[in-house]
Amino acid sequence: MTTYNAPVDEMMFLFNNLKDNKNYNEIDKYKEINSDLVKDILEQAAKINQQIILPLAKIGDEKPCVYENGIVRSPPGYKEAYKKFIEDGWTSLSCDPKYGGQGMPKTVSTFFEEMLSSASLSFKLYSELSIGAYNCILHHADQKIKDKYLPKMVEGKWSGTMCLTESHCGTDLGLLKTKAVKQKDNSYKISGQKIFITSGDHDLTENIIHLVLARIPGSPPGTKGISLFLVPKFVVNDNGSVGPRNGVNTASIETKMGIKGSPTCVLNFDEATGFMIGPENKGLSSMFTMMNLERIVVGIQGLGISETAYQNALAYAKERKQGKANNSKNGEADIIIKHADIRRSLMNMKSLIEGQRSLAFWVSQQIDVSLNHPDKKIKTNADEIVALMTPIIKSFFTDIGMEITNDAIQVFGGYGYTKDQGIEQLFRDNRITPIYEGTNSVQAIDLVYRKILNNKIFEKYIAQLSNEVKDFAKENKLSLFADKFFKYLELLNNFTLWLGEKNKSSKDDVSAACNDYLKVLGYIALAHSWLKILKVSHSKLNENKTFYEDKINTAKYYFDKILPRVQSHYLSAITGSDTMMKSNFN
Ligand SMILES: Cc1cc2nc3c(=O)[nH]c(=O)nc-3n(C[C@H](O)[C@H](O)[C@H](O)COP(=O)(O)OP(=O)(O)OC[C@H]3O[C@@H](n4cnc5c(N)ncnc54)[C@H](O)[C@@H]3O)c2cc1C
Repeated sequence: MTTYNAPVDEMMFLFNNLKDNKNYNEIDKYKEINSDLVKDILEQAAKINQQIILPLAKIGDEKPCVYENGIVRSPPGYKEAYKKFIEDGWTSLSCDPKYGGQGMPKTVSTFFEEMLSSASLSFKLYSELSIGAYNCILHHADQKIKDKYLPKMVEGKWSGTMCLTESHCGTDLGLLKTKAVKQKDNSYKISGQKIFITSGDHDLTENIIHLVLARIPGSPPGTKGISLFLVPKFVVNDNGSVGPRNGVNTASIETKMGIKGSPTCVLNFDEATGFMIGPENKGLSSMFTMMNLERIVVGIQGLGISETAYQNALAYAKERKQGKANNSKNGEADIIIKHADIRRSLMNMKSLIEGQRSLAFWVSQQIDVSLNHPDKKIKTNADEIVALMTPIIKSFFTDIGMEITNDAIQVFGGYGYTKDQGIEQLFRDNRITPIYEGTNSVQAIDLVYRKILNNKIFEKYIAQLSNEVKDFAKENKLSLFADKFFKYLELLNNFTLWLGEKNKSSKDDVSAACNDYLKVLGYIALAHSWLKILKVSHSKLNENKTFYEDKINTAKYYFDKILPRVQSHYLSAITGSDTMMKSNFN
């Protein structure tokens, strides 16, 4: 089984030193969220994740969910753990106190999301979509629905799902066929089949609240004719108690390569009673509230799984003895961490993970500003930054998660490939993250066409980064790093100009370059995060030499060994798409 120690010190380092967004610091209600409180929450979170949730990862993999006679059963131990999980209030961490939540900012809940992903992604998925559904209902439903459904969802007694996908439509939701027919009492009868629904059915909660995309007969075709409906598994009575079974049934669950402790369900809606959320035919945009936040959470899944992979690879490298290291005076074999190549692998992981955590923390501050700042203009600006960064966090973090879990297997050698150590499970569990919530390629396409080519926010973002880094460049110890940053920023700018030009003449060139562009922007965003870490680390060196020296060394590694990847993505992308479009693939 894998081991995991929640990186509370790393998280507190960010919370104490990189809460650098002036607008975030102006939000009144977060002024009392101080360092002691956050440390206390993270230590409690570490305890439940390390002691109770981590063991569920292996159990869920070996004894997956079972579907029998229309009923889905979770793996052994999940029910008991979930009971404790909700008793301790973890489902309510970031929710509105008006509905029983604890009102913690995203800056704090993102740390918790990471820990939970590190411990067991399968277990996490039971509550994850509930928070997404909660957010969607909070922002788009009428007050009566909010009062009826949110308190139980916040408490964790009811869970939520997101029902988009149908057998013939995944990425292209305009094709969806599920039907919603209006009734005299203003409710709707929902009919159709949804597939791949995470936590679509299970035995952990008293009720499941499905958020379903469907089409009202006569609506415009494509995405313009989709509405959103709340469809409970059990009808909820007027007094809030759970009533009779609604017309939603589970046809089957999927057999999967990973996250086997999480049920992925085929759901049949047979004239199930549903209630419209948000305006008619605007369902997709309401659902985007849920999907956008979810995409960031999926990126954090990649980060969390990477952290577990890194910790285990590091521990193994410190005990496995093979071969002699260069200049070894040891008569016997050395531990493999002495080999430069193993150290390269571990430093790749470490420098990417720490940079990503810092970037996620910065984006979390922007989310908090976008949701809570009193000034509308500041809110909108932050919202645009979040929109720009969402595909980066989702795709870049989860692709890097594949790289890191793959490299971790390699550090373990043959023992990584076999099941005993649990490392191969991390690779399998992470493999879904580049696929669900919109595939990573589709995220990259969204980034380039909707956010780079069609939007001024990119220029604002780059101007903000450049101004900050120009300031860093004035400091002796940072100037070399700042110079390197600007060298690669120039490539990003050239790449952006190239996209703009190609967009006029060859869309295929642009489409073929989207994945590379997303990576380039991701590596630049991480370099910016590392510069901020460097600045703090130099100024605090006397406080904790070992900790801050290590940060400076890791930053140097990132700039020397990882950031140059930008160039190879750029050079590859600008060769265009001719060869791929010409191939007849015979
Ligand atoms: C374990 C699991 C859990 C899931 N949970 C949920 C859930 O809770 N709720 C839910 O609604 N769905 C869920 N899904 C569905 C998931 O979101 C979809 O599988 C995903 O969006 C991709 O859709 P698809 O599988 O139909 O692939 P397709 O859309 O058929 O895509 C196939 C390939 O084509 C590419 N592609 C598609 N369109 C384009 C384009 N325009 N340009 C370039 N390339 C393109 C894609 O990137 C992909 O590589 C889940 C899936 C799995 C496997």
